[in-house]
Amino acid sequence: MPPRRTHGTAANPSPLASFAAPLTRLLAAPVLRPFLDEHVFDFYASQLGAQLSLNRVLARVEAIRPEARHVLSFVLRPNPNWQGFRAGQHVQLTVEIDGVRHTRVYSPSNAPAAGGTVTLTVKRHPEGRVSGYLHERVAVGDIVELSQAFGDFVLPDPVPAKLLMIAGGSGITPLMAMLRDLLVHGIDTDIVFAHYAHTHRDLIFADELVRLGKRHPNLHLHFGVTAASALPGELSGRFSGEHLDRIVSDPAERRTLVCGPRGLLDTVNALWEDRGYPESPRGVAIPASPCWCRRRPPDSDRGAGAAWASATAAPAASRAAR
Ligand SMILES: Cc1cc2nc3c(=O)[nH]c(=O)nc-3n(C[C@H](O)[C@H](O)[C@H](O)COP(=O)(O)OP(=O)(O)OC[C@H]3O[C@@H](n4cnc5c(N)ncnc54)[C@H](O)[C@@H]3O)c2cc1C
Repeated sequence: MPPRRTHGTAANPSPLASFAAPLTRLLAAPVLRPFLDEHVFDFYASQLGAQLSLNRVLARVEAIRPEARHVLSFVLRPNPNWQGFRAGQHVQLTVEIDGVRHTRVYSPSNAPAAGGTVTLTVKRHPEGRVSGYLHERVAVGDIVELSQAFGDFVLPDPVPAKLLMIAGGSGITPLMAMLRDLLVHGIDTDIVFAHYAHTHRDLIFADELVRLGKRHPNLHLHFGVTAASALPGELSGRFSGEHLDRIVSDPAERRTLVCGPRGLLDTVNALWEDRGYPESPRGVAIPASPCWCRRRPPDSDRGAGAAWASATAAPAASRAAR
């Protein structure tokens, strides 16, 4: 299988698909739907344009961009069957690999308002079937299938005055969607955001987080590394009570949202229970991805985000006062 890696942005859809889309939408009008067989409709629709379907959500890959080591974001443009999502929800993504359909769950990492697109940020697992296929084979212009969004891991309504978000590895995706959603809407909730990864190069969205932290005084960032030497001001090792005490002075007053490997959720829940905090954290566990790294990476292993290194050292210390 030749690699088809194409980073960048999509070209325009084919003229045939542009012409066929309105026609197909007309045929699929609610009044005609009861008389249509989905499989027959989808078969003929697919002859006209790859993204046409009576009910299925077919999404075109509009752009692919790197986010961290072994992590790519896929910006998807779903067809009109897509009903949208709330920040923090998940979707099932289905791809056909060598004639077999495979489905995995991913959490959009973008804010829902961003022009109707869905961004899935996927960490490649060393022997992972779907993440490997997405990284190596999927190109701009390809079509993938999505489910409608699901799940109740969403921002509390009304949004509380203080939040604590704890992300482990690719578990950052639903929390990043929530964070972007809050900041896009100018909501000035006080947010303490802790993001853990194996090494600095594995810190997804590190540069963007740093930029957001500089722009939004209500965002207080903390980076942690579990398999590399932490820089001054960073958290070293796995999340613990000592880390919590460093990053927040008022955990009992904050709504806490966690996403990452099961072990991270268990630690957070146990700590909250031990300390008798009134509000249980809300969390979603995602399968831990194996570390691609050696235990002690060389200095050159720390260069995923240029901005992160200079920003975490000094400012993190002052932010940690909260
Ligand atoms: C609610 C939820 C949200 C999620 N959101 C995201 C997200 O936003 N981003 C993201 O990247 N992931 C997310 N995931 C994880 C995602 O669903 C997949 O589990 C992940 O992409 C791995 O799928 P895969 O097909 O690549 O790996 P699989 O093929 O399913 O393999 C799973 C694991 O087994 C290992 N493995 C496979 N074959 C072998 C073998 N022969 N020998 C040894 N080991 C092997 C792989 O290395 C991998 O670690 C989420 C999961 C859940 C439940």
